[in-house]
Amino acid sequence: MADLLLGQTIGFAGNPMLEGRPGAARHSAAAACWSTPGASSPSATADDRAAHPRARVTDWPSAHLGFVDAHAHYPQTAIIASWGKRLIDWLNSYTFPEEISFADPAHAAEIAARYFDLVLANGTTTVCSYCTIHPGSVTAFFSEAERRGLRAFAGKTCMDRNAPEALRDTPQSAHDDSKRLLETWHGRGRLSYVITPRFSPTSTPDQLAALGALWAGHPDCLMQTHLSEQTDEIAWVKSLYPDARDYLDTYESFGLLGPGAVFGHAIHLEPREEARLREVDASLVHCPTSNTFIGSGLFATGRLAAAGHRIGLATDTGGGSSFSMLRTMAAAYEVAQLGGRALHPSELWWLATLGSARALRADDRIGNLAPGLEADIIVVDLASTPAIAQRAARADTLWEALFPTIMMGDDRAIRDVWVGGRRQAG
Ligand SMILES: [Zn+2]
Repeated sequence: MADLLLGQTIGFAGNPMLEGRPGAARHSAAAACWSTPGASSPSATADDRAAHPRARVTDWPSAHLGFVDAHAHYPQTAIIASWGKRLIDWLNSYTFPEEISFADPAHAAEIAARYFDLVLANGTTTVCSYCTIHPGSVTAFFSEAERRGLRAFAGKTCMDRNAPEALRDTPQSAHDDSKRLLETWHGRGRLSYVITPRFSPTSTPDQLAALGALWAGHPDCLMQTHLSEQTDEIAWVKSLYPDARDYLDTYESFGLLGPGAVFGHAIHLEPREEARLREVDASLVHCPTSNTFIGSGLFATGRLAAAGHRIGLATDTGGGSSFSMLRTMAAAYEVAQLGGRALHPSELWWLATLGSARALRADDRIGNLAPGLEADIIVVDLASTPAIAQRAARADTLWEALFPTIMMGDDRAIRDVWVGGRRQAG
């Protein structure tokens, strides 16, 4: 059955971080949004309503768009909010022991289901996730996403050094397993495979070269990895790759830099790295709750956006401290403030939707409310708690009404979710 959602909507005609708000953001105070399996439209009219007398009508005074989380680690669901570590110790103390347990397909399936329950409750309708080195962890993720009809991105995490024995593959097995998984899942329904070396310190040059060769043969796939998250990590990379010009060069020299490259964090970039990333139009993914939680540093949102970088927003769970893209937007606001830039609500909303869709090169399918795009729609309650409601009640504009939900909202603000035009149960 078709759904007709009535209420105010937010869409985008361009990038508000580049083109000046509010021109790029389209707010309609009384739009309607059709949700039928396969497509959505923000422009339904009273005539449409008359033409579909049997449509189920939902009337919410709120905004509709599914969030896109451009960088996450679903296997870290159960270790979110673990205390007291910075990046390298975080991996050794919490991440690697947890990821070892994904050798058990039943465990992987259980966590994948739990992860999607959590992200959907938070209004996230697309994620791009790392899995573990185990091919079964990819199967668990994609099987669960497929069952729910989600557009999703993921890949087998590849590591052949500086990790426990149980989490190490080889250059050949990383290539072969990734290729097999890619051939099984990439382009199947709404699923996309992502070639996924964890980061330079856990791959040998041979492994990066093998994955570079795989990507060269499958350039329609994305390639995701981590870049310049913490200063001691960067020093470690320099010691492991003494001939590299910089951190980015450890990827570039093995064929792992191109338009479909998606780099998580990118905090401590050198001028050559910034210029080169911009030149090839690679994607940078800002993970603000992770960057503050693990003590990594401040992403230069304002400067990088003004320079025209392709920027997405992400939770980076479980290094990030929340499954909520609302909480993530709040953290992005706070991090940008520390850098001297106050991001407008339209810019924050754009980062969490169309910006992340652009970072994943899926903006022709998701991330916006526009005719022909896929109907991943959420209903956001702009008065979900007493504290938010009393502030929103004094707002004169949608943006002023939306901002308290961005700063203080959580899963209670997500009233309903449609995935691919189908309403989610519960
Ligand atoms: Zn990460």
